[in-house]
Amino acid sequence: MSTGSGEFDLTVLGGGTGGYVAAIRAAQLGMRVAVIERDKLGGTCLHRGCVPTKVLAHAADLQAAARRAVADRFATGELNIDYVGLSRQKDKVVANLYRGIEYLMKKNGITVVPGLGRLTGPGEIAVESGGGKTTIRSTRILLATGSRPKGLPGLNIDHERIITSDDLLARDSMPRSLVIIGAGAIGVEFASIMNDLGADVYLVEVLPRVLPLEDEDVSREVERAFRRRGIKVFTGARVDTEHVAATENGVAVPLRAGGAEHVLAAEVALVATGRAANVEEIGLDRVSVQVERGFVVTDEHQRTAAEGIYAIGDVTGGLLLAHAAAAQGVHAVEHMAGVVSMPVLAERVPRGTYCRPQVASIGLSEKQAAEWGLKPLVGKFPFRANSKAQVRGEVDGMAKVVADASGRVVGIHCVGPEVTELLGEMSAIVTAGVPLDVLKTAVHAHPTLTEALHEAFLACGGEAIHI
Ligand SMILES: Cc1cc2nc3c(=O)[nH]c(=O)nc-3n(C[C@H](O)[C@H](O)[C@H](O)COP(=O)(O)OP(=O)(O)OC[C@H]3O[C@@H](n4cnc5c(N)ncnc54)[C@H](O)[C@@H]3O)c2cc1C
Repeated sequence: MSTGSGEFDLTVLGGGTGGYVAAIRAAQLGMRVAVIERDKLGGTCLHRGCVPTKVLAHAADLQAAARRAVADRFATGELNIDYVGLSRQKDKVVANLYRGIEYLMKKNGITVVPGLGRLTGPGEIAVESGGGKTTIRSTRILLATGSRPKGLPGLNIDHERIITSDDLLARDSMPRSLVIIGAGAIGVEFASIMNDLGADVYLVEVLPRVLPLEDEDVSREVERAFRRRGIKVFTGARVDTEHVAATENGVAVPLRAGGAEHVLAAEVALVATGRAANVEEIGLDRVSVQVERGFVVTDEHQRTAAEGIYAIGDVTGGLLLAHAAAAQGVHAVEHMAGVVSMPVLAERVPRGTYCRPQVASIGLSEKQAAEWGLKPLVGKFPFRANSKAQVRGEVDGMAKVVADASGRVVGIHCVGPEVTELLGEMSAIVTAGVPLDVLKTAVHAHPTLTEALHEAFLACGGEAIHI
């Protein structure tokens, strides 16, 4: 393909969640849009992230529910999850959604250019594909090249014994045992899923608590539930990366925790220690895009330092979540088109972690609110006292609300069954700035898990009913 100068109004480099959503919004706004993608539309989230992990998490939940039914003596027998079948199911779900994105590109008249894109100058991207080269020219460029798994210094990821989340999701056999290095969202999700599906799991975190970016009560609840389930959790633990080595049957992971040395043995070690932005080899040296600590720097409208070049999603760092990438993409193209919309503020982006019990949070933790000098009001309500949680037999966790002295909710933190489904309400509350005295009067249906949230609003003023 060859394109004349300015044939496109916008070229999106990278067709992951951020990139393809931005492209659709731009097309709705009347722009002529091209998306350059070196692999498959849908990116990390669809092919190696959100979607495949949630298919596994769904099966893990079914397994756990079946075990609860047996333990509660109203069912007998075992549910046997077949991992090969589950892996096929995961691929089927991904393929269905992938076809959906391809259809949306066509429906919106978006030109998809397969190949590896590299900026060659302002408004110009060279695309390499199958030995051929094309140049795409456009008025504006949106960088949405995403991220990839990041290792640790000294650790040799061999993709067989010492693996990343990409490697684990590509397998159709389940490891019988794993050492998971890193207890952020990805590490914690895999720890929970693999434990429910029957693997022996060690979870190792260098910081003092699991999910270290969440509210301290959240970390405590998740760690307690994990230990009860038999997941062996090591916090404040430093892995001796240079001596992690493949053994005859698996891998040995030496570490130091609580003043003692340990060597953990398992079939594989999963490295879940963060993500590196895809900023190399995309020609950033040819334009004046600024990169700091490995991520592209933008202003609140997603503009980089280079005229006409915007950036969104994982490549810009921050929360590294699919819906944040999509929301930033929508805001960026609306800003290009002169449509007034709200920039994406980190404190308004909901966060879900699909372990068991699930985690759902938004805004400031209690500690952050105190550090900001807000003199926070805090209300908590345990799921043990919620009817629906009792019905489901899943009573671990709590809902916690943090408000400032004026009653404005600045953070909500839930741990419990299906709490990621509360994120919509949580997001609406924080975005609309609904005050506590209004939230207290919002009638929540019975029996629902959302009643726990309502009770936590009430608990901020010592008015919770069921505790
Ligand atoms: C295991 C795992 C589980 C996750 N679970 C969740 C979850 O439950 N919820 C959630 O919100 N987030 C989750 N995430 C995070 C989520 O996947 C990312 O935040 C999201 O994919 C970021 O979108 P993006 O568009 O910025 O980048 P990506 O999705 O990474 O897309 C970038 C795209 O750019 C392409 N590309 C890169 N360089 C070039 C180039 N030079 N030329 C052409 N194309 C290029 C890539 O091939 C890719 O398709 C998870 C991530 C992982 C790894």
